[in-house]
Amino acid sequence: MEVYKFGGASVKGAEAVRHVAQILAKEQGPKVLVFSAMGKTTNALEALLNAFFRQEPDRAEAFKKLMTDHIAIFQALFTPDTERYALVQGLLRERFEQLYQRLLEAAVLPYDQAYDQIVSYGERLSTLLIVNYLQENGLPVEMIDAADLIRTDSRFREANVQWETTVKQIRAAVLPLLEQGKWVLTQGFIGGDGQGHTTTLGREGSDYSAAILAHSIDARQMTIWKDVPGVLNADPKYFSNTCKLAHISYSDATELAYFGASVIHPKTIKPLQNKHIPLYVRSFIQPDEPGTWVGLDDVENTVVPSYIFKPNQILLSVYPKDFSFIEEIGLARIFDLLARYGMKVNLMQNSALSFSLCLDGAKGRFPDLLGALSAEFDCVYNEGMDLVTIRHYTPAVVEQIVAGRAVLLEQRTRHTVQLVVARKA
Ligand code: ASP
Ligand code: MG
Repeated sequence: MEVYKFGGASVKGAEAVRHVAQILAKEQGPKVLVFSAMGKTTNALEALLNAFFRQEPDRAEAFKKLMTDHIAIFQALFTPDTERYALVQGLLRERFEQLYQRLLEAAVLPYDQAYDQIVSYGERLSTLLIVNYLQENGLPVEMIDAADLIRTDSRFREANVQWETTVKQIRAAVLPLLEQGKWVLTQGFIGGDGQGHTTTLGREGSDYSAAILAHSIDARQMTIWKDVPGVLNADPKYFSNTCKLAHISYSDATELAYFGASVIHPKTIKPLQNKHIPLYVRSFIQPDEPGTWVGLDDVENTVVPSYIFKPNQILLSVYPKDFSFIEEIGLARIFDLLARYGMKVNLMQNSALSFSLCLDGAKGRFPDLLGALSAEFDCVYNEGMDLVTIRHYTPAVVEQIVAGRAVLLEQRTRHTVQLVVARKA
């Protein structure tokens, strides 16, 4: 049994869906297929929800655009005057009517709850088209809605998986179909809270969905099909001379993902690692080229330096007002406030007189945090910093990365160096 995950880029249009079908047509053995929303649909749905929430005048236009885009893909994939065409057309119309209704009702719900009910349509629409296209082309796929597989709490937009129920539900629904020689197809990113609400696992969460499925069915391996050749040692957006890593450890992959490499969602690794399920990251553009294996730590080739770059960071230093040392009680207070304002800490360091934190500027409510902290501590901060993480560093590599940039904070462990640096002048 294996799990395949196809992201939004791999199904961004009719041509892409045909290409996925060609890849799958060559495959054998039991499979679970996980799909994201098509292309940038999730962003479009976020914008659509906001437009309805704020009663923006162009909201009907935005809805129509989303619908027209999906109808165009539908028309390119299916042959008119066939049973399948009529079936999918009917289902698609139903979905969009339902979506419109939900958008009208969304404004009375708490925002995060409304978000999950609306934004999950991306995956529900993509899988509706894809499952029918694959079936029409003779592939033995059956769809199961992810809300019936992945059970979560009701923390909308960042739902927590309830593992025991999830594993039970997945095994009960998926294994019998696989035994009958069917492939199971489901949506990434979404789950259900058991009270009739759809939840989502956080943006880019489809990788995590696939890992939850792989873990639950004890898959032999999991594959993420990407528009890049595999896991690179650096993001080509920020660095030239990148190279593909043939083999990396679970812990390397987790660190790379956690500190900003966008190739894998950070929550993906743990469920696989716990069961020693290897993860293969490979290209759907060049399916014959070897990708990257992620597996146990004793693999060779873990020594290529990797650079991860996280922009938009805030470096905050906190000092006690009375010149005393930052004591445990003060630290507890700082963490309490960080949690309250939803700030994500990427790095911290304390000295005798201060406590410094590198915070994700894009997440949380920094002005509120600062206001609350300033009542009790003196605070100094720099915004717009970059956090550079280098795994398997060498002095030469560090030198090359920081060249000419001011380093405000540095932390080294055996394998990793992290630097908070000011932007290039
Ligand atoms: N469609 C969702 C997103 O774009 C989930 C995913 O693609 O992994 O965030
Ligand atoms: Mg995506």
